Amino acid sequence: MKTGQINVQTENIFPIIKKFLYSDHEIFLRELVSNAMDATQKLKFLSSNGEYKGELGELQVEVILNSADKTLTIRDRGIGMTEEEIDKYINQIAFSGAEEFVQQYKGKEGAENIIGHFGLGFYSAFMVAEKVQIRTLSRHEDSKAVQWESNGSPEYTITEIEKENRGTDIILHMSEDSAEFLEKSRVQGILDKYCKFLPYPVIFGTRTAYEDDPNGEKDEDGKIKRTAIEVPNQVNNTSPAWTKAPVDLKQEDYDGFYRELYPLTFESPLFHIHLNVDYPFNLTGILYFPKIKENVEVQRNKINLYSNQVFITDSVEEIVPEFLTLLHGVIDSPDIPLNVSRSYLQSDGNVKKISSHITKKVADKLLQMFKEDREDFEAKWEHLRIFVQYGMLSEEKFADKAKNFTLLKNTEGVYKTPEEYKEKVATLQTNKDDKVVFLYTHNPEEHFGFVQKAKDRGYDVLHLDGPLAPHWIAHLEQKLENVSFARVDADTLDKLIQKEEEIPSKLSEEDEAFLKPLFESAVDKEKFVVQFESMDSGDAPIIVTQPEFVRRMKEQQQLGGAGFYGAFPEMHNLVVNANHEKIADVLQTKTKKSQERKVKQLTDIALLAQGMLKGADLNRFIERSIDMI
Ligand code: ADP
Repeated sequence: MKTGQINVQTENIFPIIKKFLYSDHEIFLRELVSNAMDATQKLKFLSSNGEYKGELGELQVEVILNSADKTLTIRDRGIGMTEEEIDKYINQIAFSGAEEFVQQYKGKEGAENIIGHFGLGFYSAFMVAEKVQIRTLSRHEDSKAVQWESNGSPEYTITEIEKENRGTDIILHMSEDSAEFLEKSRVQGILDKYCKFLPYPVIFGTRTAYEDDPNGEKDEDGKIKRTAIEVPNQVNNTSPAWTKAPVDLKQEDYDGFYRELYPLTFESPLFHIHLNVDYPFNLTGILYFPKIKENVEVQRNKINLYSNQVFITDSVEEIVPEFLTLLHGVIDSPDIPLNVSRSYLQSDGNVKKISSHITKKVADKLLQMFKEDREDFEAKWEHLRIFVQYGMLSEEKFADKAKNFTLLKNTEGVYKTPEEYKEKVATLQTNKDDKVVFLYTHNPEEHFGFVQKAKDRGYDVLHLDGPLAPHWIAHLEQKLENVSFARVDADTLDKLIQKEEEIPSKLSEEDEAFLKPLFESAVDKEKFVVQFESMDSGDAPIIVTQPEFVRRMKEQQQLGGAGFYGAFPEMHNLVVNANHEKIADVLQTKTKKSQERKVKQLTDIALLAQGMLKGADLNRFIERSIDMI
């Protein structure tokens, strides 16, 4: 037996590892199973290029929980280590400035990923174990099996042992405060999270003693019995869909993989994108488009990031643009640095490239779908809309591409791209300043009357709703040349799309001066501005409008996206149609009292049409209407 000192420059590195570096103790298992995988992959590699000539045996990694011994063993049949290799790879954790480094990162987000970078993955075992043994037999012929043991102080011992099989057992003697990792369900849960798609089988089982245990049960010959693992089960799918070539996969394979990723999600995704890049960075993955609901938040953060099939995290906000976090699926890239702080990630060159590559792929896929099967694309549009609008608002490059496939729907359910739509309505809806006015409503039911009047004139009305509509409309207005948007209730039609020819007014200035106070006293003066317009005699006698800019200000304010305007007043216009016969009729009416009554009735009808007549006012209106019959 030999004893020695683990070569660390800071004596107290272990307490530091334990307390600060990992916020999540459970990742020790990810680190150790990953090491076992690496050792297995290396062996396979050496065998395939002829450097290793022995039998491969069953290349799998076993995780064995022994609750009697309070141990958790990670066993592989990989390359193993000689005593010299243990010395080199385990004893010499040569890193300088560890303390500085730890001081800098402790408590910071992402610190849990730093450890691997310093070749400390193995030492994460000491977060949960009071004693760790490595029992290993190297692939080299004639090498002797050795056991390394340490209790977490910088001291270790090395002993020669008997070991039948090539490979490494890492035996963790769990500390009291890590008893949770001796629970089967807890271990199963960790394996499911991090090891679900590792490339060699990971077998998890429990047993009461392991074969090398000197205290284990002995058979007749006095040899320690190899107790069977109770219900060993394979944790992982060793060749998940994203690692395969797209040509080898059918739609049902993609659907099946989606369910494998999200067993609790019943809905199928709309479609997918298979990512496969090897230059200038390495990236594979499958992104799924879910059917996006109004409440986008619940669907976020479902993209899982893997590095060589090892699960790393499900928060990828720093790696993909925010709007892409609405997608689901897997990204696997060994080129995303895992050992740096999250804020650093965003400035990393590879991460930037990966991010713009994914954005481009997503835009290209949408464009391709749009071109190949427009009908199908339109059928999916309601589910894609929020995603596309979000992308257009947040990523300039995406917006550039998306303008060719983003769709506007009119109240008849016909879809057009902005340019197509401009062409469609230009003839009738160009105003005297040569701007094409896109009329829209957020709710055709609520604006039924306004929409009807617009259609009567041959105008088209868009149906634009959804949480992003106000921002998106502003965006399109900026991008499209000579186009402005106007909601149908923003003004009278003649004002919304102003033409050269004006309808002459039937009211004289005196008439207006006489009528104005009558209308003003019919409504709350603080909230309504009375104005006269010479509209078509067939239009309503009075309409209530809210100027486009007033409404937008309020909408922006509600969305919190456009700075601070102070509390914007709830202003409306009460627009009196100077050419309507009922207005002429008010002028003819003899007594002041019945004039007031008629004006009140006309005003109330206009408010009612806008859904603005409520409570006591509505009640008085009903009673007055009955009286008037
Ligand atoms: P890293 O994996 O980042 O290099 P670790 O501390 O996890 O750092 O491991 C250090 C080294 O120890 C590995 O690079 C490898 O050479 C060796 N090692 C660890 N686990 C095993 C194993 N199960 N089989 C063979 N070698 C191993």
